[in-house]
Amino acid sequence: MKITIAKHSGFCFGVKRAYDLACAGSRSRGKVYILGKLVHNDDVCRDLRKKRIKEIKSLNEAKEGTIIFTAHGVGPRLYEKVIKKGLKIIDTTCPKVVKAQRLAKNYAKKGYQVIVFGDEKHEEVKGIWEWSGDKVKIIGSLKEAKKLKLEKKKKYCLISQTTQNVEEFKRIKDYLSKASANFVYFNTICDSTDSRQNETRKLAEKNDAVIVVGGRDSANSRRLYEIAKSINLKTYFIENARQLKKNWFSDIKKLAITAGASTPEWAISKVIDKIGKID
Ligand code: SF4
Repeated sequence: MKITIAKHSGFCFGVKRAYDLACAGSRSRGKVYILGKLVHNDDVCRDLRKKRIKEIKSLNEAKEGTIIFTAHGVGPRLYEKVIKKGLKIIDTTCPKVVKAQRLAKNYAKKGYQVIVFGDEKHEEVKGIWEWSGDKVKIIGSLKEAKKLKLEKKKKYCLISQTTQNVEEFKRIKDYLSKASANFVYFNTICDSTDSRQNETRKLAEKNDAVIVVGGRDSANSRRLYEIAKSINLKTYFIENARQLKKNWFSDIKKLAITAGASTPEWAISKVIDKIGKID
């Protein structure tokens, strides 16, 4: 069996940066907390716990010390609360998320109705929403874009959650540019997501099966799975090597392995090792 590993697999620039900043922060004096998960990957979260970084769900759980904000970013109200509490901040917000936050803030200030293509329950989108002064409209698909009641005189600005599907973003942009005369857009989907999705498409076409390695709550990993599955039915989504099944490989000559931006190298290596041992 020939195995091809996607060039764009594992930690992206933003996650690597966040992980390195968090690891450096773990050496700070006093207690170190992280609000939410650094990334949606259990292996990484376990690793951080070992480095004495305590994961908390609410700011009330942190009394003193340092708090880490994740790569997904947070809204301005949280910065204020943390400063008031006298906690130190390690902000690992990815610079590409910061760009989307700034666009939302600036265009909302200029009187545009900001529309975000994204998942309303995702931390990144909640943060962008807050930076706009709680004024954005969030849509998850072209179907939802078509339900928007657009006013002739209003100005609209479309941006995206950084890990959304590029093709769907283009369809939404095409629809809104025809439906509204006052429309601007910024493709804030990050290059890492774009390259990863394009490569996954090609790998799914050229191989007999595809393995996607990623955390079950990782939106970008799940998106890779959906893309590959829509092209190649023999696509499998796993969190770790233990979930591999021998019967997936019985008649497979060419296999591709890809992984989400939050999947650590060590998890991918374990998957490759285990597949190598399947006879
Ligand atoms: S996927 Fe892109 S936006 Fe998200 S953390 Fe990685 S580099 Fe940043």
